[in-house]
Amino acid sequence: MLYRNYHSQIIPIKEYNGHEIEDSGTDDLNVMVIMLESISRLTWLRHSPEIHEFITQELGGAILNGHHVVGGNSFPNNYAVMRGLEVYSDLRKLLMGGVEGIEIILMDFAKKGYATLLAEDFLPGKIPSYAKIKKIPVPHHDRASRVLRRSKDQYIPKGPDLNYCYGEKNIFNYTLNQVFDFSQKYRSLGKKFMAYSAIETGLHSHHSQNGISQDKHMVMNFLKKLHASGIINNTVVFIGGDHGCRFKDYFNTRVGYYETSLPLMYGIFPKWFREKYPTAFGNFKFNGENRLTSQYDLYYTLRAILNKDFINPRSHYDPNSHYGVNLLARVPEERTCQQAGVGPHFCMCGRKTRLDNTDPRALKAGQILITKVNELLKDTPCVQYDKFDVIEAYLVYPNEDITIAIETKPVYASMRTTLSLTEGHVTLRHIDRLERYSLVTKCMNENTAKLQDLEMMKIWACVCKDSVWRATKQRLNDWS
Ligand SMILES: [Zn+2]
Repeated sequence: MLYRNYHSQIIPIKEYNGHEIEDSGTDDLNVMVIMLESISRLTWLRHSPEIHEFITQELGGAILNGHHVVGGNSFPNNYAVMRGLEVYSDLRKLLMGGVEGIEIILMDFAKKGYATLLAEDFLPGKIPSYAKIKKIPVPHHDRASRVLRRSKDQYIPKGPDLNYCYGEKNIFNYTLNQVFDFSQKYRSLGKKFMAYSAIETGLHSHHSQNGISQDKHMVMNFLKKLHASGIINNTVVFIGGDHGCRFKDYFNTRVGYYETSLPLMYGIFPKWFREKYPTAFGNFKFNGENRLTSQYDLYYTLRAILNKDFINPRSHYDPNSHYGVNLLARVPEERTCQQAGVGPHFCMCGRKTRLDNTDPRALKAGQILITKVNELLKDTPCVQYDKFDVIEAYLVYPNEDITIAIETKPVYASMRTTLSLTEGHVTLRHIDRLERYSLVTKCMNENTAKLQDLEMMKIWACVCKDSVWRATKQRLNDWS
C-alpha cells in the first residue's frame, strides 16, 4: 500500500435517544468545550499572548485566574467537567451497580434537543476498562475512526509514546476541524449543538513544556474560523487545559509547582449574551479575576446554560454535589479548596515554604512515602524501593502538610506527593510521577482491566521488575 488517509464527515442524525431535535429557541446557546492537553495558564500566556489578546479583546472572553485541577491527569479532570463527580469513587459505584451505559453532560444536552459531538481519544478505553461499562451513548462520537487508525496504521510518524498523525493529518487539527464541521452542519440545519473535544496524545504539550508553540496556530485558526463564520455569535466556548504542565525540570521550580495545578480556562460568551445578561457574565468575569474555581464548576455552569438560568443565576444545582458551583453566580469569597473538590496536593491557595532537602521533616516525609508505596506495591509485578534522595520539599500552611518529591535509588523512579504528618495515620492520596514512567510500568498498564479496586496509584508508583534495566535517570528523563 502506498498511501492511507482519514476523512471525517458529519452525517446529521434526526433523533437522539427518542428526543426529536428541536428548532432553536430564544436564548439558546450552542456550546463548545475544548480541552487542551497539559496547558497551564502561565505557560499559555507566555507562549500565546496574541491568542490571549484575540480571545479577551476581539471575542470578549474572560479567563479564570484561580482555576484548579481536581486530579493529576486528563481522566479525572475531564470526568469532572463531563459528570461533575470524582472519577474513581463514581466509577467504583457504577461498577458495583453493573450499569450498561454512563450519563455525561452531553446526554443532558441531547435530551433538550441538542445535537452532540464527543471528539476525544482516551475516554472510550478508560471508562469501559475501569467500570466495565459498555457504551458512552453520544450519537456523534468518533471512536470508530480512532480505533481503526490504531489497528491499521503500523507506520505513522510517532513521537515518544505518542502519535500525532492521522495519515497525513495532524490529529489535533483533524479534531478541531471535526468540531467546526459539526457546528457548521447543524447550524445550516437550524439546530443547536454541543461539542466536547479532549485530545490527550495528539498535542506536543503532552510531552514538552514548550510543545504548545507547535500547536497554538491551530487554536488561533480554529477561533478565527468561529469568528469569521459567525458561529461565535451564538455559541459559548470554554477552552483551556485539562491540567497544568508536568515536566520535571520545570516542576522543581516554585512557579512550575504552581503551574501543575492551575490550568488555563477561558469562557467566551456571545456579545448579545454579555449585553442582555450583564449580571451572569459579570459574575463569571468576577469569579475569574477574584475567586477559587475548579473543573467541577464547569459542569454546573454547563447545566446553567442548558437551563437558561441567566437572570438570577443559582450557585447550586445538585443538592448532592459536594463540589461544583455555577460560575454565572458569584462564588463565595470564603470558598476553600476542600469545598471546591481540590485535594491538598493540588491546592495552591495556602502559603508554602520551601524546606531544605536535608530538613528532618523532609526526610521523614520521604521515608513515609517510600514505605507507603512499598505497601501499595506488595503482591504486584513491581519492585520494592530501597533508598531515596529528596529533590524538593515544601511546608504547606495552614495544616503544615509536606509536599515532597523524591528520587529512588538504585532503581530510579521520581515521584511527588503531599502528606499530612499531623494526622495519626498518614494516608497516601495521590502520586505525581515525574519522569517518563510509561516505559517502565507496562506490566501494570497491561493489567489495568483487572484493577477493579481502581487503585490507580499502583500504576503511578510502579517500576516493573522486568523493566529495571531501563529505570535509570538518564533513560527516563530523556523525552526527545
Ligand atoms: Zn491531560
